[in-house]
Amino acid sequence: MSDQQQHRVVVVGAGFGGLFATKALRRVPASVTVINGTSYHLFEPLLYQVATGILSEGEVAPPIREILKRQRNVDLKLGWVTDVDVDERTVLVSAMNGREIRIPYDSLIVAAGARNSYFGNEDFAEFAPSLKNIDDALELRSRIFHAFEMAELEDDPEQRQRWLTFVLIGAGPTGVEMAGQIAELAHRALNGQYHHADLGRTRVILIDAVDRVLPAFDRPLSVAALRKLTRLGVEARLQTRVVDVDADGVEVRTAAGAERIEAYTKIWAAGVAAPELAGRIAAATGAATDRAGRIVVGPDLTVPGHPEIFVVGDLAAGDLPGVAQVAMQGGTYAAGVIRRRLAGRPAPKPFHYFDKGNMATISRFSAVANVGKLHFSGLAGWFMWLAVHLFYLIGFKNKVSALTHWLVSFLGRGRSERIATTQQIQARNALNRLAADRSR
Ligand SMILES: Cc1cc2nc3c(=O)[nH]c(=O)nc-3n(C[C@H](O)[C@H](O)[C@H](O)COP(=O)(O)OP(=O)(O)OC[C@H]3O[C@@H](n4cnc5c(N)ncnc54)[C@H](O)[C@@H]3O)c2cc1C
Repeated sequence: MSDQQQHRVVVVGAGFGGLFATKALRRVPASVTVINGTSYHLFEPLLYQVATGILSEGEVAPPIREILKRQRNVDLKLGWVTDVDVDERTVLVSAMNGREIRIPYDSLIVAAGARNSYFGNEDFAEFAPSLKNIDDALELRSRIFHAFEMAELEDDPEQRQRWLTFVLIGAGPTGVEMAGQIAELAHRALNGQYHHADLGRTRVILIDAVDRVLPAFDRPLSVAALRKLTRLGVEARLQTRVVDVDADGVEVRTAAGAERIEAYTKIWAAGVAAPELAGRIAAATGAATDRAGRIVVGPDLTVPGHPEIFVVGDLAAGDLPGVAQVAMQGGTYAAGVIRRRLAGRPAPKPFHYFDKGNMATISRFSAVANVGKLHFSGLAGWFMWLAVHLFYLIGFKNKVSALTHWLVSFLGRGRSERIATTQQIQARNALNRLAADRSR
């Protein structure tokens, strides 16, 4: 084996950035160690469909080992990278078996993504979970379907209304998609299945401090999305700030004053921040970070002063949006730089993001999409959404299975993934009792 073949690349994270980097290193004479906290690669854009019973978790989270099974130069280690030693060139991993291991690298690609941020109000998380991984999606799914069951069992009209009120905090794509789907559940998919609770009384309230939904999209698409949401029965409360969240509801503030909204189910879809690892890397390398804690990188996506360390995707600071395409293209670019270096070729041009557009679904057969200066909404936007998601969903089996579920849910009314486990229900009931005791 030549020296070149022994070049060791460590990739932290097997999300969009890490996976695309790893795949692009397929024919590179290097050994690649991928370290990821979970055994699956998560297709985050479809997570809201797991939370609302359309898709199963397996369809959006295929095993990394299966995706990479044909790539011979890859070794996968499950665990969380907790620190980087830039002098020794090792990463410290808290492995899945509870042990701490050190893994050496010659090149390091960090693609550890982002986490949700409660803007310093971490106590809100207990009452308003966010949507970032499979655990979150299954927890939210159990809360949403549990709420309809609780409403059915409730005799007190005030309490029943609390169960039938859903509050989404944050009107970006996740908040909008969740709001649209919960409204569809109440007014269409579950229609006729409950005999005591009137699901027509369901309130879906979408709150944001800014003045429009989908603020990252061009304004006409925000207007189209809001119109469609309103038609679905979603109440959008814009220029409204959530100032408190507890077990029974939320307190909001607008220019007109304060208001309380009683709701048992709250979902946090506002704000992202860098994971803890970003702080460790910044401390070890002296790299600057932005307000969200993301690492400032150079034009070739390396950490200044450390040409061997790349940071790609959501973890990198800059003007680029936190979307999958940025991570995919960043991962592929970083792998390309390593390939050129190993081949003794000159460095490539600085990283340039090719913006392929932005899209969000509102409900079945309705989505909005920004592609360059072009705008698509309604059915045209939805078909674009369908094509793009089918294209990028990983694995033939997952594509076929997701398409089948979409036919069932969108042409019919079925929501096949509605299970809340006994463990989840018991935990939920215990938490409800605890909250009731606390408020007495
Ligand atoms: C609910 C939701 C909906 C979204 N919808 C869209 C959408 O419609 N369109 C779009 O373009 N983008 C969307 N995004 C954003 C998009 O998913 C991200 O921009 C993209 O996933 C970023 O890729 P990444 O590789 O940087 O991070 P991720 O894909 O988040 O991957 C990070 C990986 O690193 C692992 N990891 C983290 N820390 C460590 C550690 N210390 N050690 C080991 N492993 C670690 C994680 O387990 C994860 O697998 C959405 C995001 C969310 C949460």
